[in-house]
Amino acid sequence: MISPIIILLTYMWDIALSYLVIKFFMNYSLKTFLKHTAKDFYNQSVNPPVVRASTILFKSLNDIRKTQKKHLKNPTGGHFDYGRQGTSTTHALSKILTKLEGSYHVFLTPTGFGSVFLAMFSVVRPGDEILVSDPVYSPTRILTQDFFKDFNIKAIFYNPRDLSTLKDNITKKTKLIFVENPGSNTFEFQDLSKIISIAKKNKIFTAMDNTWGTPYFLKPIKLGFDMAIVSATKYYSGHSDVMGGSLAVNKRVFKYVQIAEKISGLRMGPDDAYLIIRGLRTLDTRLERHEINTKKIASFLSKNKKITVLYPYKKGTTDYKMWKKYYKGSSGLMGLKIKSKNISSIDRFVNSLKLFGYGYSWGGFESLALHQKIKEQGKRKYLDLSKDEHIVRLHIGLEDPKDLINDLKSSLKLIK
Ligand SMILES: *Cc1c(COP(=O)(O)O)cnc(C)c1O
Repeated sequence: MISPIIILLTYMWDIALSYLVIKFFMNYSLKTFLKHTAKDFYNQSVNPPVVRASTILFKSLNDIRKTQKKHLKNPTGGHFDYGRQGTSTTHALSKILTKLEGSYHVFLTPTGFGSVFLAMFSVVRPGDEILVSDPVYSPTRILTQDFFKDFNIKAIFYNPRDLSTLKDNITKKTKLIFVENPGSNTFEFQDLSKIISIAKKNKIFTAMDNTWGTPYFLKPIKLGFDMAIVSATKYYSGHSDVMGGSLAVNKRVFKYVQIAEKISGLRMGPDDAYLIIRGLRTLDTRLERHEINTKKIASFLSKNKKITVLYPYKKGTTDYKMWKKYYKGSSGLMGLKIKSKNISSIDRFVNSLKLFGYGYSWGGFESLALHQKIKEQGKRKYLDLSKDEHIVRLHIGLEDPKDLINDLKSSLKLIK
């Protein structure tokens, strides 16, 4: 029989080594960090094992109590006593994302929308008001505008292009400013530092949905936001086969979110965490290629007179300036504002694309297209879209952009 002392020593050595490896690679650039982090020296595998657990076993009752004490002392230190707090697999992912975000901690949720919900649930209470950017992701709109009403929480929507509509709507009850940048479908880029300074002056919490840019291109927590959300379903996983969400926080809101996370029972599973870690290995490489491809498509499409490309590629526009001020790069999701008196020809255009899939979500390796009927949703207050203008959303994947352009070229003829 192997002596328990040897097992204990091996175990301690493993923990010390993983800790040192993380410390060591922290000093490298993100590109290198993403390739070398979370190796598993104990199992000699490049990626961490998938640890599935509800019950966590300890060596003694005293050991359970010690772990709980350690957790209280160092809540971000990865001490856990039950599976709802995650396992070593989800903790490895949380550590990687904390580094990527430059945040105090990252909470993981089963979907991206779970992180949107957790952010709000953590700080907003009955009687409060929240300010939300008008072009938010539609489920976020429904949550804040409709669902919260029953809880006596009032949502006011501000114009992302005119921050006086943000400033002028602040009251003593305003608890949270919720920003999504750029706006879903219409891609408005906001003056983020200005929003933060308004919020700080009025002691209001701030959260930003950063799914489009990811912290690889923009780090909201470093900029001064209290919370930053990324749907891990999109670029983190990158392969359209897993869902997840990440909520990065600064020290100020950590304790609020920690309580809300416990109460809500939102927890990412280890299999999903594993796939997201695997996706993150190539986050930088994929995003850079998405950007190259998308710029090529944008410049091709901008030659079409019926189309306005909603993507930060053209110098001189306000959106470009705001993008340039804050972002290191741009991802693969863009909008097309198409002028046509014949709305069914927009559907014909999308339906005739051969390399673009028709379906929700985005951020995987493949191209997607949707005709977004945002006017029919009838909720947006500051929608800058005339009767004959329609929105098509494209996700530009990692295919050869020449093939994508040829596909678009033949389908564009169908727009009347
Ligand atoms: C997809 C998406 C979400 C929600 O993420 P899920 O993982 O699908 O729940 C939130 N915000 C934005 C901007 C998104 O595109």
